[in-house]
Amino acid sequence: AALAGLDRAHLIHPVAPWRRHEERGPTVLSSGHGVWLQDAQGRELLDAFAGLWCVNVGYGQESVVQAAVEQMRRLPYATGYFHFASEPAIRLAAKLVEITPASLTRAYLTLGGSESVDAAVRFIVQYYNNTGRPAKKHFIALERGYHGSSSTGAGLTALPVFHRGFDLPLATQHHIPSPNPYRHESGSDAAALIAASVASLRAKVAQLGAENVAAFFCEPVQGSGGVIVPPRGWLKAMADAARELDILFVVDEVITGFGRTGTMFACDAEGVQPDLMTLAKGLTSGYVPMGATMMSERVYAGIADGAPAGQPIGHGATYSAHPVSAAVALEVIRLYEEGGILANAQRVAARFAAGLAALRSHPLVGDVRCVGLLGALELVSDKASKRGFDPALGLADRLFALGYQHGLVFRSFGDHVLGFAPALTITEAELDVLFVRLCRVLDDALA
Ligand code: PMP
Repeated sequence: AALAGLDRAHLIHPVAPWRRHEERGPTVLSSGHGVWLQDAQGRELLDAFAGLWCVNVGYGQESVVQAAVEQMRRLPYATGYFHFASEPAIRLAAKLVEITPASLTRAYLTLGGSESVDAAVRFIVQYYNNTGRPAKKHFIALERGYHGSSSTGAGLTALPVFHRGFDLPLATQHHIPSPNPYRHESGSDAAALIAASVASLRAKVAQLGAENVAAFFCEPVQGSGGVIVPPRGWLKAMADAARELDILFVVDEVITGFGRTGTMFACDAEGVQPDLMTLAKGLTSGYVPMGATMMSERVYAGIADGAPAGQPIGHGATYSAHPVSAAVALEVIRLYEEGGILANAQRVAARFAAGLAALRSHPLVGDVRCVGLLGALELVSDKASKRGFDPALGLADRLFALGYQHGLVFRSFGDHVLGFAPALTITEAELDVLFVRLCRVLDDALA
């Protein structure tokens, strides 16, 4: 109670409506193991969202803790600036190059997803400046996309709440329609939806002039926009279109990277070779902050060779390539590969998909979306018209409260999409508990 009082009085919570939070107060989380969390009240909660879709290896992985402790003891900090480096940072860069698509040969290590997106934009602008095409500084992304909370990332994001008051998107940032099978006029016709996306990209590039367009940014599955899963083949078609249009293809795998969608990276499922890739979240599984901006040799060489002699790239941060984060990331990646975590994610994905699919007939559920261990339910007030719920009803708040009562943590997007992204270590028995609790939440919401 004392902690809750201090929280209400002093701690600002991102995204939560601040006054409402002051009334409601915090759920203070105190410990975790596997997919299970305990709060300060001693209530046990099944975390069906892996924190913020980041704790892919689950809570309480002792070897990750040890990796951090050992690195802190040996050398807690080394700048990545100038020509300094640390062993874990170098080994991590090499490891990331090894496991990401073959087109990516260089890694810039950041503190999270927003910084990785920001760095990608700055590197791309620099690439075109140095290679004699400075007009190429317009960026195209998707409606309903989310790319972070820096001004650059918030502008690439196409969710209005992140733009308000800042004249975002910037004049150099543009959006094309989201490949949303549930809401698109071509419905379940995958080929038509893919063709429509490619046509929108072509049309936008034509409108801006190819000589002015730098890159197309996208998430393989749109996360914060409501877990929108495009049809298979969409990512490859967009990558091919970008290449044809002579613009860079940047894939934001901050959520989808590190096994979330069933392969190490979503690009792997379609053999996509992007020019740049942004990573975070599952890279360190949330134990410490870190992200990465991966780039191809062509982009790297353009920046490095094209720069006037002795001119460094004007971008960096105190904690770039942080050795403790890098040591944690190396151990986390070892767990995905050698600790059987990626294999587990692949093994239990069918049970996850079946659990979600069984809810399709629930009166509240309009659409079920799922790939790997990433899923969502879109709730509607009327299945035929696909009409959502009046935000004034506060449905999401009510569902969260019911979730807490039944011991289940999940997330909502807007007021009517519920997202699920459990740790990749979840067992089939734990998935069964998840769905029993979720059914209770939905049934109680109807009552
Ligand atoms: N890109 C995507 C696709 C994301 O989902 C997020 C975070 N949800 C970001 C970028 C920004 O990452 P961060 O919150 O670590 O800055």
